[in-house]
Amino acid sequence: MPRKRVIGNWKMNGTIASNARLLREIKDDMAIAALTIDAAVCVPFLHVSETQRILTGTALKWGVQDISAFREGAYTGEISADMVAEFGATYAIVGHSERRSHHAEALTTVGAKALRAIEAGITPVVCVGETLREREDGAARETVETQLLAVLDSLPADQMHSLVLAYEPVWAIGTGRSASPRQAQEMHEFLRRLLRTRSESLADTTILYGGSVKPAAAADLFAQNDIDGALVGGASLEAGPFLDIIRLAANHAGA
Ligand code: PEP
Repeated sequence: MPRKRVIGNWKMNGTIASNARLLREIKDDMAIAALTIDAAVCVPFLHVSETQRILTGTALKWGVQDISAFREGAYTGEISADMVAEFGATYAIVGHSERRSHHAEALTTVGAKALRAIEAGITPVVCVGETLREREDGAARETVETQLLAVLDSLPADQMHSLVLAYEPVWAIGTGRSASPRQAQEMHEFLRRLLRTRSESLADTTILYGGSVKPAAAADLFAQNDIDGALVGGASLEAGPFLDIIRLAANHAGA
């Protein structure tokens, strides 16, 4: 059974002080420590030092929202996976739709980022998802297949099991319009089939759903066979809703 996870994506929000406060509120919830699922937040780069200080030794894991596709060198402004690993990050989101669209990230770039993360001992959270136009044109599956295969083709066969996959339909991100549990399950089932086609050992890959996940809708999403948790944007910016989503995922962890 894939490992259940709930990962927050704070995007470009907060200050050192407000994010430190939020980290404390989440990690101080004693229930987190008792859960059998992984809970994590992906913080802005400038906050990793403070995050390491606050979360080391706690049950709450953390990550970053991107990393460089390059190992090191003359890449002004970039931050490498090794640099982030030095702080103890567990996760790096790669291929988020906001990076694919605002920063023109190519399929091969996302694959290279996933590889850099794995080489540094960080779990890449690989985002795939179709735009509304692609869904309306009946091209949703083709889009996510192309995005996933580009990443798998970038990884050595014995490293593919190291990734977490996140299905994030672009039309559901930050819009308040979540995919229905059925729409999400259909795509997750398709993605799991693709993974299995590549290797039977990938059938256990954690596949998160992301796109306007709120506590009210989370239970129905987590009840689906192939939904192993959530990548949460807006609702991870406050401790209350984020902790509620974590608890709802834990209820479906089968533990
Ligand atoms: C995201 O940015 O990954 C995301 C899912 O955002 P939201 O939950 O706000 O839609």
